Amino acid sequence: MHSSEVNSMRPYVVGCMLSLSVLGISANLLADEKPQIRLVLQITVDGLRGDLLNRYQAGLGKDGFQYLMKKGTTYTNAHYQHANTETIVGHATLATGANPSQHGLIGNVWFDREAKELSYNIEDPDAPILPTREESTEGDQVDPAQKLARTKGRSPVVMLAPTFGDGLVAYNGGRSKVFGVSSKDRSAVAMAGQVGKAFWYSTDNGDFVTSKYYYDEYPEWVQAWNAERKAEKYAGTKWELSAPESSYLLIEQDDRPYEMDLKGFGRTFPHSFGDGDNKALYTQILFSSVGDELLADFAKELIVNEKLGKGVFPDYLSVSFSGVDAVSHFFGTSSLENEETVRVLDNTLADFLKFVDKKVGLKHTLIVLSADHGNPDMPEYMTEQGYTVGRVDPEELVAVANKAGDELGVNEVVRFFYRPYLYLDEEKIAAAGLDPVKIEARVAEAVTEMEGIEIAVSTKQLAAQEGTLLLEQIRRNHHPIRSGDIYVAQSPYWFLFDEGAIANMHGSPWRYDTHVPIIFVGPGIEAQKVHRQVHPVDVAPSLAAALGMSPPAAAQGQPLKEVLE
Ligand SMILES: [Zn+2]
Repeated sequence: MHSSEVNSMRPYVVGCMLSLSVLGISANLLADEKPQIRLVLQITVDGLRGDLLNRYQAGLGKDGFQYLMKKGTTYTNAHYQHANTETIVGHATLATGANPSQHGLIGNVWFDREAKELSYNIEDPDAPILPTREESTEGDQVDPAQKLARTKGRSPVVMLAPTFGDGLVAYNGGRSKVFGVSSKDRSAVAMAGQVGKAFWYSTDNGDFVTSKYYYDEYPEWVQAWNAERKAEKYAGTKWELSAPESSYLLIEQDDRPYEMDLKGFGRTFPHSFGDGDNKALYTQILFSSVGDELLADFAKELIVNEKLGKGVFPDYLSVSFSGVDAVSHFFGTSSLENEETVRVLDNTLADFLKFVDKKVGLKHTLIVLSADHGNPDMPEYMTEQGYTVGRVDPEELVAVANKAGDELGVNEVVRFFYRPYLYLDEEKIAAAGLDPVKIEARVAEAVTEMEGIEIAVSTKQLAAQEGTLLLEQIRRNHHPIRSGDIYVAQSPYWFLFDEGAIANMHGSPWRYDTHVPIIFVGPGIEAQKVHRQVHPVDVAPSLAAALGMSPPAAAQGQPLKEVLE
């Protein structure tokens, strides 16, 4: 309702007041049209490209995604504005309302210039994981970014901008509670911010863990959840399709030679989980719909035990589901596994919303659903459809870069390549008495000429270059200390990552990777579709504005007017 309509109704309301009071109806109910927000629930579906809910609509129930779409404001044209569309980058952008150049999380991996090593985004030796068991074997790590972590400690201290949750706690005098949970550590930690608490799934043992940054010991309810060994119960079972085969759009996209077989998990349904002694089990769970189900189960316990939505001030819970992204990395975005994971998550979400309604009341809950990035289709799949593309060989890319450096007099000028950045050896360039700007420009030029590379650009020269959309995206991704010397972007649908590590990789600046859903549901928010272009940096300022707060300190987005009206 617009404020002018409220004003025009006022005389009528005042006129009725007496008789309503006689009937025992509080006048406050009339003055205060919107129910109070007791819980802000931020749901992130990792890797849920902006068109996937449309593609799978026929297979979705009415109480999950479709409930949110029918009940709330759905932004159909929401795009990230930064170039490196990776998980930590997108989550930190959603949480802070800032671009990576500002919040500092420019990639899942960056070069630690002091140690001269690559580092994993949220690693922190001062924040070790609190053990959940006396003995625990180490699970198989298949996440290429996690593999580079030099320590098991995790914390948000690398975040350079406050989150919505950080602001919420300060605004309410410390009386709001803030939690972030996910199957991935980085997706829990980024959303919880500096002030909140985070829990995430461990591929070592299927428990939900936290670090010393947040707690000295586990709350009792977490110990109790872990003691049930819920993940272990899937040992020796199979991940099977949940609906009749004929109901799947992608039923023919299951057995394809370019999908990966994850440690005996298989390429096709039914996928076999390892047995209890098999350390692959807990990783395989993450690469199925089961990880999302365990996460929702854990989040329910959290709501009850931490009494979320029961205080005078609103609490915040972020739940980031990783299943859709995980299966896309191994089986592709247009795979049967992707469709099945979205469908199971739809049921999981329906059940979770019902639970929130019972415990907090959906009418008191402000919900926002989005994704941290979209997802591409694999080059082989696109080629089958008649759009011929391929995979860039990173070793060849480094060889091309080194050859260009060599021609200017620096032997092996590349120190590291971890997409999207090339890091050059500054010491060698200085020792040769050469101008780094000149070397970078020449190396970038040589790499740009490679097949499958759209552009390689010296980040020192970003400010001086004309602003195409692509350069703007690269600029928004640039942090002067953490970013590398040359940003490398592949051409549309080309794959640019380590050969063999994963089958499919997002992270490009193209629309399939920048497009995500944004859906707001809550008190006063109308049911509508909005087709105007908006951006995930707008999410945190919108949440803040809905509660009457200033935006998070470094936010660069704008409150969305549909959330405020
Ligand atoms: Zn992701």
